[in-house]
Amino acid sequence: MAVPVAPGTAADPANGNLFIAGAWVDGVTGETFESLNPADRRDVVGRFQAGTAADTGMAIKAAEAAFPAWRSMPAPKRGEIMYRFAELMARHKERLSQAMTREMGKVIAEARGDVQEGIDIAYLMAGEGRRMFGDTVPSELPDKWAMSIRQPIGVAGIITPWNFPIAIPCWKMMPALVTGNTVVFKPSSDTPHCATLLVELMAEAGFPPGTINLVTGSGEAVGDTIVDSPDVPVISFTSSSATGKRIAERAGRRLKRLSLELGGKNGVVVLRDADLDLATDGILWSAFGTTGQRCTACSRVIVEQAVAEPLLERLEARAKTLKLGYGLDPGVDVGPLINPAAVDKVGRYVGIGRAEGDLVIGGSAATAGDLAHGNFFNPTIFSGVKPMDRIGQEEIFGPVLSVIPVADFDAAVTALNQTRYGLSASIFTRDVNAAFRAMRDFEAGIVYVNAGTTGAETHLPFGGWKETGNGHREAGHAAIESYTEWKSIYVDFSGHLQRAQIDNQPD
Ligand code: NAP
Repeated sequence: MAVPVAPGTAADPANGNLFIAGAWVDGVTGETFESLNPADRRDVVGRFQAGTAADTGMAIKAAEAAFPAWRSMPAPKRGEIMYRFAELMARHKERLSQAMTREMGKVIAEARGDVQEGIDIAYLMAGEGRRMFGDTVPSELPDKWAMSIRQPIGVAGIITPWNFPIAIPCWKMMPALVTGNTVVFKPSSDTPHCATLLVELMAEAGFPPGTINLVTGSGEAVGDTIVDSPDVPVISFTSSSATGKRIAERAGRRLKRLSLELGGKNGVVVLRDADLDLATDGILWSAFGTTGQRCTACSRVIVEQAVAEPLLERLEARAKTLKLGYGLDPGVDVGPLINPAAVDKVGRYVGIGRAEGDLVIGGSAATAGDLAHGNFFNPTIFSGVKPMDRIGQEEIFGPVLSVIPVADFDAAVTALNQTRYGLSASIFTRDVNAAFRAMRDFEAGIVYVNAGTTGAETHLPFGGWKETGNGHREAGHAAIESYTEWKSIYVDFSGHLQRAQIDNQPD
């Protein structure tokens, strides 16, 4: 039996409990798993409940029980709770950011940006409580009213990765909640502490018991239970494309609403007229920020042959200066990879890259001094990569950049689009015609001109084409599509039967 330990706040967020029906509880088995600091694996961030199918079932029941009252609460009132949550996050921004750097590894400036994204989407969705537009349109029949409204779907299963441990859960939970759904939240097993801190603030903000439930634990035990449950009609899932496809098959068996945000192989195109210093800044930030572990990270630079050499020289010179280390230490530019398995994976791709291109810089794990206790990998650049090489095609999710020389603009567009992913793309050029052709022809959900591939703002739709997703979008007004059903309503005040498409048409 789950035992309540302290309603309202986690007894000890570093030794996190599950949050079910408004109480912090132990899981049924009481078994725990550790979360480690990726910059120093000797530092145990905390121990967290290894939730089971039974725990997840209880969380789903709690969310179901809370749904009728929550969906009946006027949306502006739901928005007010969200507004309080945004203010709480802003007040606790530094604490959340430091906890994130310790648990996930991104350097502190980026962690602050991650938390800020959570704050921004909470404010945006709080306002959505007073919008949530439907349509009112004229009926084709006299004395008849026609309109459409949005309604919540039910219990939303929210399954998130570790790379944006505050922003992504907020991108998903805020639109789900403001539209009147209740939530079962399963965070990545690499970042349960960030999730616990986040839910603690949600409880403090006043989300009623059962509207938000947190179950830590493995993808198989917790995630699959959410995906398979007939009582969770809507799921939002961010992961690799391989995992996303498996989830889509399972969820498809029950015809669930499923929003998938998956992998990327994002490219920057650099034309011969580009400002090469600006391009270098944008590429380095996109490729090695968050140690290359952003879904929007740049892993391909497609450069016109005429400027390939000077661009490569700049990239190499600047990459050499990047300082690796613990993201809370001043002066550190690049943090660790998330876990030792990620170091192994990046190492394997470097092996493949050595056979396909020319190694310019990096190419090995960084183990000097204290770095040996963490999951560090040196920023790595390959030149002379061909568009269809494996390192130019497969998502590595680490600090590995492939430079692909091409003859001209048309070849650059072809190379950029020659991937099964379609999340983010950018172009550096001073030619306005080329910029507009790129905006039109790049096959990607997000396009930047004279900026890198990262930096999405929360009031615009976020998501990708092709195998990056299944057509849904996070953020912006588009996000609420994932969590609402449309209802079209007709009110006939003529006092007699009127048959659409029949009584208003000549025989
Ligand atoms: P992951 O290993 O696939 O895990 C993502 C989440 O899915 C975790 O909570 C994980 O739980 C859970 N999970 C794993 N297997 C599951 C299963 N069989 N059933 C249900 N849940 C399961 O992905 P990741 O390494 O955390 O994230 C990196 C990937 O996400 C990259 O491919 C990246 O491009 C993508 N991403 C995409 C976007 C976007 O918006 N397009 C944003 C960020 C990241 P456990 O942690 O317990 O295994």
